[in-house]
Amino acid sequence: MGVPSILENRQQSIVFKGRKKQEIRCETDSEAGCVSQRACVYCGARVVLNPVADALHLVHGPIGCASYTWDIRGSLNSGADLYRNSFSTDLKEQDIIFGGEKKLTAALDELIPQFQPPLVFVYSTCVVGVIGDDLDAVCKAASLRYGIPVKPVQSSGFIGSKSAGYRAACDVLFQLIEPPQPLEKDTKRFRLNYLGDFNLAGEAWIIRSYLERIGVTVNVVFTGDSRYEQIRGAANADLNIIQCAGSMHYLAGKLQEAYGIPCLSVSFLGLDDTAETLRAIARHFNDPSISEQAEALIAEESARVMPAILKYKSRLQGKKAAVYVGGGFKAISLIKQFREIGMEVVMIGTQTGRKEEYEKMDSLVNEGAVILDDANPAELERFMLEQGADLLVGGVKERPLAYKLGVAFVDHNHDRKHPLSGYAGAVNFAAEVYSTLGSPVWQAVQGGVRHGRV
Ligand code: SF4
Repeated sequence: MGVPSILENRQQSIVFKGRKKQEIRCETDSEAGCVSQRACVYCGARVVLNPVADALHLVHGPIGCASYTWDIRGSLNSGADLYRNSFSTDLKEQDIIFGGEKKLTAALDELIPQFQPPLVFVYSTCVVGVIGDDLDAVCKAASLRYGIPVKPVQSSGFIGSKSAGYRAACDVLFQLIEPPQPLEKDTKRFRLNYLGDFNLAGEAWIIRSYLERIGVTVNVVFTGDSRYEQIRGAANADLNIIQCAGSMHYLAGKLQEAYGIPCLSVSFLGLDDTAETLRAIARHFNDPSISEQAEALIAEESARVMPAILKYKSRLQGKKAAVYVGGGFKAISLIKQFREIGMEVVMIGTQTGRKEEYEKMDSLVNEGAVILDDANPAELERFMLEQGADLLVGGVKERPLAYKLGVAFVDHNHDRKHPLSGYAGAVNFAAEVYSTLGSPVWQAVQGGVRHGRV
């Protein structure tokens, strides 16, 4: 028997830990006619490429697509800030009827001389896919005119899900990467690429500092605070570590296939995962000095943050969390991270999780927890209430739902201004959970769920 009042075709995408053994349906297109929390293909591509800080990002489409993702991530930069603009060809009715290629050429001819970028990304949107503008030809011609890469990103919103946008972005990034430089004999470099960190609130800088402390060099971050020159040299690395696997697993696979660079899936969210990641990197390089420095860092940082974590834990013990985020790696880490502060995750879901990630989530949550793929607002509302969640962790699209229900909310996506990675991030996370759960505002929300104060 399926779950009552859930659309028939959605029932296989929802499982309950401990009930009838059922494999979750995931990595499929969204159900036609059903509202989805997923972002479109273009948005998936844009969020991956946008943090390339010295690139010019031109959205070929109506102005709404450009404004939807304008400065979408709180990705910080260390100098170049061209990426913070959202250039658009602003297609109108006449362009839809007669084609937008001339307008795109004119936009490139105006923008490239004015901003002199080393690299341009041109994003396709829904309407461009419908009218059939030849993005490849226009970009190729501009590239020849100006002598810089002008890369078409095939991201028409309707051609798949957000995951297709991730792949489109990875395809373009891979095209920019050049074969590795020959190494001097016996060179030991301990050099890695860090994939799937977008430097939200400076998170990539925190992780880079940890890695430097243990004797490992970050070659390039994909894509937080990255530059074209760094991306070109990505093949000069000995290892790829992947944090956001949903967006970057595909690129890591291509780098392994083309240049033999091995990869490790990692997470710097929460104390346990951060420590385990540092140890895994040390194990990979198999060098005693890296292992010693990693252990020293873990001991020092853990000692520094544990008093704060324990203080929050004593006040949060027994509270219940619901989680709905973009990808599986973050969802898995959040289950463990909530456990570190005494809380239980009773509902967990993602937009683009993979089968093996859902299996991991299933192994981590308690009996009765709900696991959902590609959920819609009605399902999130229902299961948050049924499971008695005190708090929702989500992104910009989940925030209004939590506010409407009077459920405490933690933003774990684009808009936040404080880092949640590493040891400092673990304390920030606990502090935010504590402060939102303890806020009296939820008591005042009419018709919402009532919660005891922390
Ligand atoms: S590409 Fe399509 S779905 Fe995406 S923002 Fe633009 S119109 Fe909307």
